[in-house]
Amino acid sequence: MTDLFTDAHAQALDAADPLRDYRNAFHLPLHDGAPMAYFVGNSLGLQPKGARTHVEEVLDKWATEAVEGHFTGNAQWMTYHELVRDGLARTVGAQPAEVVAMNTLSANLHFLLVSFYRPTQERPVLLMEAGAFPSDRYALESQVRFHGFDPAEALVEVEPDGEDGTFSMACIERAIAEHGPRLATIVWPGVQYRTGQAFDLQAITRLGHAAGAVVGFDLAHAVGNLPVQLHDSGADFAVWCHYKYMNSGPGAVAGAFVHARHAHTDRPRFAGWWGNDPTVRFRMGPQFSPTPGADGWQLSNPPILGLAPLRASLDLFDRATLPALRAKSEALTGYLQQLIDADLGEVLQVITPREPLQRGCQLSIRVIGGRERGRALFDYLAARGVLGDWREPDVIRISPAPFYNTFVDVLRFARTVQEWRNGR
Ligand SMILES: *Cc1c(COP(=O)(O)O)cnc(C)c1O
Repeated sequence: MTDLFTDAHAQALDAADPLRDYRNAFHLPLHDGAPMAYFVGNSLGLQPKGARTHVEEVLDKWATEAVEGHFTGNAQWMTYHELVRDGLARTVGAQPAEVVAMNTLSANLHFLLVSFYRPTQERPVLLMEAGAFPSDRYALESQVRFHGFDPAEALVEVEPDGEDGTFSMACIERAIAEHGPRLATIVWPGVQYRTGQAFDLQAITRLGHAAGAVVGFDLAHAVGNLPVQLHDSGADFAVWCHYKYMNSGPGAVAGAFVHARHAHTDRPRFAGWWGNDPTVRFRMGPQFSPTPGADGWQLSNPPILGLAPLRASLDLFDRATLPALRAKSEALTGYLQQLIDADLGEVLQVITPREPLQRGCQLSIRVIGGRERGRALFDYLAARGVLGDWREPDVIRISPAPFYNTFVDVLRFARTVQEWRNGR
């Protein structure tokens, strides 16, 4: 135990880290003139230094070329979203035509549900997890109402069977079996935002499909955090944002996946000109003829300034590679768990599953002793440049991100908790 808590131990882990230099590719926020221990990449990832270059390129092009910027150079705006397509496809384990960067997360959830939630009297049910991120719940409930169904009947929220809000596969399986014949669509998280639990997308998809349901995922906390294999999972659709582990800036343009089997679907959709086949788009005719694949769900010409930072982010993911990032992530989060187990067990209780396959970067940590005590610790940490985030009533989420967090950062968290405990 004493060894785990020494500078030498954490520094040796950092020195042996093959990804250690990527920290320099990010702007680190400061506290009292020194870098914070920033553990909030699950909420807003840090700024890659390359982001400014890409944004300035767009500003310069606009200044010097104006409308011509749509048609000139490699980064022309007409096809700008295609610049991120291959990188995105690699990041989520998809074919390039299955992914598109567009809109924002909640908007994409709605637009894809328009196509993939088609309730009937026999199969009206939209199934989700209880305790979902509020925006997802609002979106799903409003979709149910939009189709004229009563959420009390048609929105099923599966209660977790684990005491801290985690789900066993058996629990998910039972819920799908129970509602099977009435299921229209399942929407499930890749990683649950509050508990940090990661789910097996392929297993859930298989169960849902066997019951005759459409299956989609919200990957807000999964993309850039864990390697996901969307194509092989068989999921029908998925949505996610790019400002969390994808480090693309506040309100960054989001992502969407539509499985190749739906590339030429005649399901209804809400259409816009940017989803129209580009070979005929500028004939400006009255007929909508969708681009095959995920691109066909685009509405508008994209916000180029909002897309630009994603290019810098994807460059970094391509260089570092997800398997290497994941290996470091498991080590960082494992170290955090070890430190808690070794000496902080009477202060902190980890509610995220211990099994690495069931979690990403984040540990959701309950402060033992109730809300006041939890809040006091959270404030103590923040005042010393150790930033996590707070979830009512008593949970601190700590997400060591392998791109820019260090083992020394993790030690700093644990030491600051010790200091707080010892001072009480
Ligand atoms: C972060 C997050 C959101 C936020 O939605 P926006 O449309 O990007 O504001 C929604 N759902 C989940 C699960 C999230 O984690």
